[in-house]
Amino acid sequence: MESCIFCKIAQGEIPAEILYEDEQVVAFRDIHPQAPVHVLVIPRRHIATLNEAPAEEAELVGRLSLAAAEVARRLRIDQSGYRVVMNCNRDGGQTVFHIHLHLLGGRAMTWPPG
Ligand code: 5GP
Ligand code: ZN
Repeated sequence: MESCIFCKIAQGEIPAEILYEDEQVVAFRDIHPQAPVHVLVIPRRHIATLNEAPAEEAELVGRLSLAAAEVARRLRIDQSGYRVVMNCNRDGGQTVFHIHLHLLGGRAMTWPPG
């Protein structure tokens, strides 16, 4: 999608601090971190929200979680722990309409979330 900021990051057209990438997935630091570790994990393929994720992309959606765990290991927060979350639409607080997991860690998270 031409106007999508995360598509542009995945294609290298907008700079980002990339921590992991493979053929299908890219992970980079969030520009406004909400925790000492705040990384976004996206598919290279544009999918606007989780609602639009087709059943055929089940593996791709799963790969996002595995990439988040890999980044957590690389940043050495896997044992202390972390949170992985995907926001969807208005009530979920989604602001960028290209699906992404937030990997948050480096401090204790609170529950319930705000
Ligand atoms: P959402 O609110 O959609 O779940 O999360 C979008 C996230 O993308 C926000 O945490 C926001 O800070 C981050 N973000 C928005 N634009 C950019 C950008 O250009 N670069 C990076 N690295 N993060 C961005
Ligand atoms: Zn996109």
